[in-house]
Amino acid sequence: VQATKIDYRDLVARGVRVLNSAGAMHMSGHLAVRDAEDPNVLWINSRISSRSTLTAADVLPYDIRAGRRIGAGDEAPSEVHMHSAIFALRPDVNASVHTHPEYCVALSIAGIALQPVFVAAAFLPEIVPTFDDPNLIQTRERGDAVARVLGDGSAVTLRGHGVIVVGGGIDEVVARTVMTEENARLQTIAASLGKPIKVLGAADLAISRPEICSPHWARKHTHYHEEVARTRGVIT
Ligand SMILES: [Zn+2]
Repeated sequence: VQATKIDYRDLVARGVRVLNSAGAMHMSGHLAVRDAEDPNVLWINSRISSRSTLTAADVLPYDIRAGRRIGAGDEAPSEVHMHSAIFALRPDVNASVHTHPEYCVALSIAGIALQPVFVAAAFLPEIVPTFDDPNLIQTRERGDAVARVLGDGSAVTLRGHGVIVVGGGIDEVVARTVMTEENARLQTIAASLGKPIKVLGAADLAISRPEICSPHWARKHTHYHEEVARTRGVIT
């Protein structure tokens, strides 16, 4: 039996719409997915497309080593370098999201590191690293620098700018992106109550990670957001 070929254009378009419906995409965010048949290729929404009505025609293939889109048409987002640098450095990463979620950005502006405080965000490292530079990631060198700060983790915050979240596949990265902002919101609310906050420490993360990093967790969360998007008429 021959496996069905994955339609990456459709996959990315749906993923972006679902993320936007969940409030986690922003007008200039992007979702990149690695091509399973050619690990040097990623698929990403175009620079100019509206993230709210994205279609398969707005998704393009990008050559990671060459650092340019494949074929003619709309260009990749100017900050595609984050995704390409991380995909080059991390063979375990097959999907990544860059977006500008307000609680994550607010914490970075306040100089407070994002930390897992909610058990469903146990995929995050104990202290999420910050790329301490608010300017856009529009060169390969800056993309490499972000990838180095990410290290082997699941997320990095970009001060005064946004986040990049990575996963083993599209389900995982969609679920993680939404949850990263939910965690940031909870951390902000808890910190504003005026007492020292209780974060998930290394021992807690060791207990919770196997469940939170399982494929069924990612599918369940992403399925929930897909169904919310479907009932809103955002996807069919
Ligand atoms: Zn950005």
